[in-house]
Amino acid sequence: MNDPTQSRSVEKACLECGQRGRPVPATTLEALVSTPALTALRDHTGFRFCANPLCDTAYFRAQTGERVPRGMVKVRIGQKETEPPIPVCYCFGFSAEQIEADVHRTGTSPIPEIIREKCRQGLDRCERTNPQGRCCLGNVRAVLARAGAGGQTRKDESRSRCCDEGVEE
Ligand SMILES: [Zn+2]
Repeated sequence: MNDPTQSRSVEKACLECGQRGRPVPATTLEALVSTPALTALRDHTGFRFCANPLCDTAYFRAQTGERVPRGMVKVRIGQKETEPPIPVCYCFGFSAEQIEADVHRTGTSPIPEIIREKCRQGLDRCERTNPQGRCCLGNVRAVLARAGAGGQTRKDESRSRCCDEGVEE
């Protein structure tokens, strides 16, 4: 280990597109990667998720040069899809279109609060349902903002104690 800062940033860069990816738990790969691709991997730890819409890679591990293309992931990856329905919340089945329809009709959407309430009840299974391996609320907020509900998003929502927060970047 010579320069830990540099080697860490290399570990974070997608092997295909170079965009920084966030770590995903082994359970996410085990739940969502198709069996042939999964068995081809040495083990399932230390992978990161590439959210770049233009990149074909879903998961990569720079240290071993391994990558899992999106075609080997069993669910549609919302960040990489352009055709509706674009999944946003995998645990409770909400799409970007549902949130956008709410915003167009009422100026906001109850969906983030519905998701938060279900998370509070411990009903979320993000690690095994969401290809990014973590809570969807950040993505939900992004859809809300894009749909024009920016003014409706309360500050305290971003500090919710959901699994969305406090994960290493
Ligand atoms: Zn990539």
